[in-house]
Amino acid sequence: MDYYKKVFNLISKQHLWRGSCLNMIASENITSTAVREAIISDFGHRYAEGVAGGVDENTGLRVFDRYYQGTKYFDKIEALAIKLSEELFHAEHANVVPISGVVANLVAYHALSERGDRIIALGLLEGGHISHCKISAAGVMGLKDVSYAFNEREMNIDVDKSKEIVRKEKPSIMLFGASVYLFPHPVGEMLDVAREIDARIVYDGAHVAGLIAGGEFHDPIGEGADVVTASTHKTLPGPQGGIILCRKELAEKIDNTAFPAMTSNHHLHHVAGLLVALAEMKKYGREYARQTISNAKALAQSMYEHGIHVLCEHKNFTESHQILVDVSDYGGGSEIADRCEEANIILNKNLLPWDTLRDTGNPSGLRIGVQELTRLGMKESEMENIAIYLKQLIIDREKPEKVREGVEELKKEFNRVHYAFPSQRQAYDQIKFK
Ligand SMILES: *Cc1c(COP(=O)(O)O)cnc(C)c1O
Repeated sequence: MDYYKKVFNLISKQHLWRGSCLNMIASENITSTAVREAIISDFGHRYAEGVAGGVDENTGLRVFDRYYQGTKYFDKIEALAIKLSEELFHAEHANVVPISGVVANLVAYHALSERGDRIIALGLLEGGHISHCKISAAGVMGLKDVSYAFNEREMNIDVDKSKEIVRKEKPSIMLFGASVYLFPHPVGEMLDVAREIDARIVYDGAHVAGLIAGGEFHDPIGEGADVVTASTHKTLPGPQGGIILCRKELAEKIDNTAFPAMTSNHHLHHVAGLLVALAEMKKYGREYARQTISNAKALAQSMYEHGIHVLCEHKNFTESHQILVDVSDYGGGSEIADRCEEANIILNKNLLPWDTLRDTGNPSGLRIGVQELTRLGMKESEMENIAIYLKQLIIDREKPEKVREGVEELKKEFNRVHYAFPSQRQAYDQIKFK
C-alpha cells in the first residue's frame, strides 16, 4: 500500500467533509490560521524539561531552569503564555505544562490531596466529567468520589443539600465545573462550607475557559476558587492541551507537580499555539464570548418554538455555549445524533439527569455547542435556520440527505475564522508543504 497517499487522502477527505458540516460538539473548536502556523513550527520537535527559575527583573517575565540546551526562544514563549493566562483569568499564578485537561486535574489532585481523601463533584449523570470519578483521574489518585446534590429543574448544584453532604463527608477537594454545563456553579455560595471543613476549591473550567477569559461567564478565582484547571481547546480556541491557574501560595506545589510528576515533555508547539490563541482572546475574546452565549440562547429559543424539548426554558435555556435537548420521545440521543451526522450536523448524544448509567448507549439527550459556528461568523439568524434543520431531522423525520443540501448551502457562506488574527486562508483549508 502507498501509505503516503493513503494518509493524506484521508486527511483531505476530513477537511473537505468538516468544511461542509455544522460542527456542534460542545468540547471542540477550530483554531485560527495563526494558531495552526504556530503548531507546525519547529517547537513540535523539541524538549524543554525544567522547573521555574524565578522572574527576570527587567521584563517581569518568568525564567526557567532547563535540563536541555536550545530553549532560549521557547522560554520567552512559555513566559508570555503564562503572563497572558494570568491576565485573562485574573490569577496570581499560571502553569501551561499540562498536556490536557485530565492531566491538569491530575496535577491539582496530586498537589492538594492524599490517597484515601474524598473529592466531591457532580456525578456523571448530572454532567460531571470522568476525571472527577473513580473510573479516571480521581480514582487513579486514590480519591473516593462523592456527589453533590443536584437540582434537575435548575440544572445546577443544590446548595443547601450539598452543604450538608460536604459537612458529613469532609472532602479535601470540592470540585466545581462540569462537561454538561449550562449555568455557573455556586462557588461563592459554598465558600463558607469549604472554609469550615478546610477543603480546597478546584474549579474545572475545561468547557467554559474561553467564556471566562472573555469575561462573559462568572469569575471562579474572584469567587474564591483556589485552583482552576482547564482544557485549552473547547471554548478557549487553542491547540489541544491543558492549563492551571492558582493562588500564589500554591504555585510552587502546582509547578513541581506539573513537572516532573505528571509530564516529561510538555508539547512545546502547543504552548506556542496557546500563546497565539491567548493573544487573540485578549483582543477579540469579549466579543466572541458574548456572541457565543447569545447564539446558544437564540438556537435554544428557536428550537423550543419549533416544539423541541430544550431544557431550562424558565431560565432562558443557558448562560454558556451549550444547550441540552431531550429527544427521548423521538428515538433517543443515539438515533438522532446518527441522523444528524448523515445530514452533516455533528453533535453528540448525552445522558440527562433522569437517565441511568444503563442508558449510556442511547441516552435521552443531545448536547449542542455553538462556539465553533460562532467563530465562523454565524449570528442569531443562522441559529434560526439551524433550528429548522434540527426540527426537520428530529420531529418531521425528513430524509437526512435532503436536509444535508440546505446545511451545505448554509455552511458555504461561513468558512473563515473570526475573532482571530486576519488570514487569507479558509477555516478548513488543509495546510500543505508538498
Ligand atoms: C473535556 C473535559 C476534561 C478533559 O479534558 P481533556 O483535555 O480532554 O483531557 C476535564 N474536565 C471537564 C469538565 C471536561 O469537560
